[in-house]
Amino acid sequence: MNNAQLFERAQQVIPGGVNSPVRAFRAVGGTPRFIARAEGAYMWDAEGQKYIDYIGSWGPMILGHGHPAVLEAVLSAAREGFSFGAPTEREIELAEAIVAQVPSIEQVRLVSSGTEAGMSAIRLARGATGRSKIIKFEGCYHGHADALLVKAGSGLATFGHPTSAGVPAEVVQHTLVLEYNNIEQIEEAFRTQGSEIACVMIEPIAGNMNFVRAQIPFVKRIRELCDQHGALFVFDEVMTGFRVALGSAQSVYAKAIPGFRPDISVFGKVIGGGMPLAAFGTTRQIMQNLTPLGPVYQAGTLSGNPVATACGLATLKEISKPGFYEALGAKTQRLVAGLTQAARDAGIPFVGDSEGGMFGFFFTSELPQNYNVVMATDKERFNRFFHGMLDRGVYLAPALYEAGFVSAAHSDADLEATLTAARAVFATL
Ligand SMILES: *Cc1c(COP(=O)(O)O)cnc(C)c1O
Repeated sequence: MNNAQLFERAQQVIPGGVNSPVRAFRAVGGTPRFIARAEGAYMWDAEGQKYIDYIGSWGPMILGHGHPAVLEAVLSAAREGFSFGAPTEREIELAEAIVAQVPSIEQVRLVSSGTEAGMSAIRLARGATGRSKIIKFEGCYHGHADALLVKAGSGLATFGHPTSAGVPAEVVQHTLVLEYNNIEQIEEAFRTQGSEIACVMIEPIAGNMNFVRAQIPFVKRIRELCDQHGALFVFDEVMTGFRVALGSAQSVYAKAIPGFRPDISVFGKVIGGGMPLAAFGTTRQIMQNLTPLGPVYQAGTLSGNPVATACGLATLKEISKPGFYEALGAKTQRLVAGLTQAARDAGIPFVGDSEGGMFGFFFTSELPQNYNVVMATDKERFNRFFHGMLDRGVYLAPALYEAGFVSAAHSDADLEATLTAARAVFATL
């Protein structure tokens, strides 16, 4: 069956033919590619067409697909059993590996998805502070828990509106949505309601609006406001964690803001190496609030799954090797610089940025600082670029508000082939 036939068949039994909406290509139009297999930096679709993969399962595949050491770890773990519903030594090893790299964390709890980790982190923040209100920023995605599916209300004093049907307004009445990188707004929010705010949750480098960095003064000010008002600062590093640096995005901010630490961190994607695994962590003292020690309930049948933890551990072992991020970061920078140069040569407004193995680009001349600016960039041109690249065997994220990812498996030849394709496509834009 070809991609179109598979899509038709999928739509009979799966809503929209997909199990996560962005896979349906709605933003860019056209037929989604059904992937048959992947290896290293490449994926092959059901028609045998090969692609250089710049999604990497939306981030997890930092070593590329089917890394031999990871594959071996997964196969041998699977032989020992898929799931026990009882504790295992490997869960300790993975928790130790995470804690060892991220100084803000003394304990973690393992869960199965980023959504679950983000939702649990908020419950923990509320339980630990005894407060209800949370602050998030427009354009940041923290999974699809009810309280987080919110867009900004009409004014700062008003709470947000649900962005999904099925979420009652009452459920989001404690969620305040502010503009990313807007210091005045968050100062105003703390001035008027500081004593009621449990936590501020942020994507430090927002990959769900392509690639927008939280500015250093913005992060620094949030840290101060949280400290002054007894609120917790939650870094959602589901995408950036172990992707932009071994110490995650918080280590990047700690370089610019001496002593900087978030209170709670949320991980997913890379720490599972492509298997369903995520985590949230913080100090031992805050973690004591969780069941079975404290009153904040949290649980999971498949949490700390033995095959998933084997995959995550083997991945963390590879990415902890000296020089890994230097090489990955240099490769990603070379890609973004090459794309930028090619666009400039073609006279097309284009700007890009990257950190570690995560990158983004926009068809505009200045890096956007918030969601509204991202969404005002040239969508038609992005869509034509996306399809032009896909036709030439380069698989980029199928929406202008999504980040891209380079893996250790991408070779210089892959980057060169990508730039050759980009030059050809830019010439048609
Ligand atoms: C992907 C992502 C999530 C959700 O993780 P899932 O595993 O898809 O539930 C949450 N936060 C951020 C920043 C993400 O990128």
